[in-house]
Amino acid sequence: MKIKKFGEFSGKSKPCILFVGPPGCGKGTQSEILSNKTGYLHVSTGEILRDSQSSKIKSMMKTGELLPDDIVAEELSKFISSNQDSSGFIFDGYPRNLDQKKFFEKICEDHGLEIVNIFYLEVPEETLQARIKERSKTSGRADDADPKAFQKRMDEYQEKTSPMIKSMRKSKSFYKIDGTQELEHITDDIFDRLNEI
Ligand code: AMP
Repeated sequence: MKIKKFGEFSGKSKPCILFVGPPGCGKGTQSEILSNKTGYLHVSTGEILRDSQSSKIKSMMKTGELLPDDIVAEELSKFISSNQDSSGFIFDGYPRNLDQKKFFEKICEDHGLEIVNIFYLEVPEETLQARIKERSKTSGRADDADPKAFQKRMDEYQEKTSPMIKSMRKSKSFYKIDGTQELEHITDDIFDRLNEI
């Protein structure tokens, strides 16, 4: 995956930032904070899919499994196309496997996007489980409330997402962030890295 520094931007391409990591690591929270500070659009495939009216999508999401790549790609492409005006994009939850990473390169090409940072939020499984259990009290998400769905999400992460993250590690703008810190410290770490490039 090709990554440019901010200074190298041609002016024609739009910056995009990727958050990767397991369920409950804080991708959504940090994406939202960064979105508010930069004005870049927060693109959460989980949110986009939850907004879908399709009963097939809804029932698949309840189980914690990853949805088929073609369904996610279609929903994501529609979303990007209808938000072309945004000055930049923050991706939270996409790509999530090696095939999606390839498709993402095509999206970047088609829409003139360039990856400037990849942030991997590292959090141990016991902490993730506790966070999601707590979040289930207010999130209203069936996949948060059901321990079996949580386990399925972790299995999917280990089997499909983790190898993709490994493949990104050599990118020069890939940063591993300790996601167990206080929320503000995580944000500071992210901004320190953004300032560095
Ligand atoms: P999230 O809100 O990121 O926790 O995602 C919630 C659920 O949406 C996941 O467990 C999957 O079922 C589905 N989902 C979100 N993003 C993707 C993706 N990139 N590929 C496949 N399924 C996804």
